[in-house]
Amino acid sequence: MEKLLLRHARILDPSSDLDQIGDLLLVDGSLQQVGGTVEASDAQVIDASGMVVAPGLVDMHVHLRDPGFTEKEDILTGCRAAAAGGVTSLLCMPNTKPAIDTPETVRYILDKASQADAHVYVAAAITKGLQSGELDDLAALREAGAVALSDDGRPVVHSRLMARAMQAAPELGMRVVSHCEDLDLSKGGLMNEGAVSRELGVPGVPNAAEDCGTARDIALAEAYQVPIHICHVSSRTSVAMIRDAKRRGVQVTAETAPHYFSLTDALLRARDADFRMSPPLRTEVDRLAVIEGLRDGTIDAIATDHAPHTPQEKADFSKAPNGSIGMETSLAAGITYLVKPGLLTLRELLRLMSTAPAKILKIPAGTLETSRPADLVLFDPEEQWTVDPEKLHGKSRNAVFKGRLLTGRVKLTICGGKIVYRDGE
Ligand SMILES: [Zn+2]
Ligand SMILES: [Zn+2]
Repeated sequence: MEKLLLRHARILDPSSDLDQIGDLLLVDGSLQQVGGTVEASDAQVIDASGMVVAPGLVDMHVHLRDPGFTEKEDILTGCRAAAAGGVTSLLCMPNTKPAIDTPETVRYILDKASQADAHVYVAAAITKGLQSGELDDLAALREAGAVALSDDGRPVVHSRLMARAMQAAPELGMRVVSHCEDLDLSKGGLMNEGAVSRELGVPGVPNAAEDCGTARDIALAEAYQVPIHICHVSSRTSVAMIRDAKRRGVQVTAETAPHYFSLTDALLRARDADFRMSPPLRTEVDRLAVIEGLRDGTIDAIATDHAPHTPQEKADFSKAPNGSIGMETSLAAGITYLVKPGLLTLRELLRLMSTAPAKILKIPAGTLETSRPADLVLFDPEEQWTVDPEKLHGKSRNAVFKGRLLTGRVKLTICGGKIVYRDGE
């Protein structure tokens, strides 16, 4: 029997409202005791004084780029980045090549992921090739193991198709996660449309491009009384619409990403494509509205939209594809920009990053329950570190927090009972 004892940790489990200083014992990778004092002379002991142990993080929006774009990332390297960020479960998006629109591709991913450092869940495509032309065989995708549906990277353009998918998904036990964007309004835009884009003379993407998508999907959820999950909320107007819809009882949930609560379009003045993503970094007013949405429960989860691209692709400001990586910095960004300024408690942050997304996806994660293989993260909530993209664990370097001093450092990640990351090793 292999025993591992984390001693004197602050144990924080949002799923059970546990918050106490105590010991945590793993036996053969399973949580045996959580809290209190443990005597185990034959255990390997880690002194966790001053550290926090929490459920492994759940990142419900990740691009693993595999199959088809493995020069950017692959399933194994993406999960290595996850482990380094304390993420033990993730949902991967279907805009691969081929797109995840057949049972074979779902199985390819799940098969390769069985060797990876994180639990991988699959969001399969809603339409064939993400082209908004023809609905996939959703039941077959579910049968193959997909838990969610999305055309992420793009919206489902035709509302009738989207409505059909949203109506079919609950019966299949799947969650539709929607990239909200009016492609007509966003066409040609490289950054947020506003004072900075005008100053730079760069074509912009208005809030309305995101908001039209958000409004449509809320309307469909309301009309057919089915759930919808809104991805990467960035605009103050979308936050307001989601808040209003929730008040009226619409089954809408939402996520935002760390860059939307911490950064603004002012960064685009550097004409650095690493700061280009979809939706784009918005204004300070939008950033504050996103934070208010996190505080009042309008936004349910924090996900990264981890979107690796090679340095060559990101070299040209106007030609570069959208997206930035984020799994290795998400916890620290949350601590730095939400917990340190007193906007959220650490427990609230961890709920948004573990328990809440697990509940939305209905996956077994986001908890420190005993008697099962452990998924957990141990981190120092006070340690400061400067983000050096060269030291990250994925394949790509397009990190929005590059060069920034962040607070909060992952020390140890255990996934499925196995140590998958240890700081300094
Ligand atoms: Zn998206
Ligand atoms: Zn995405």
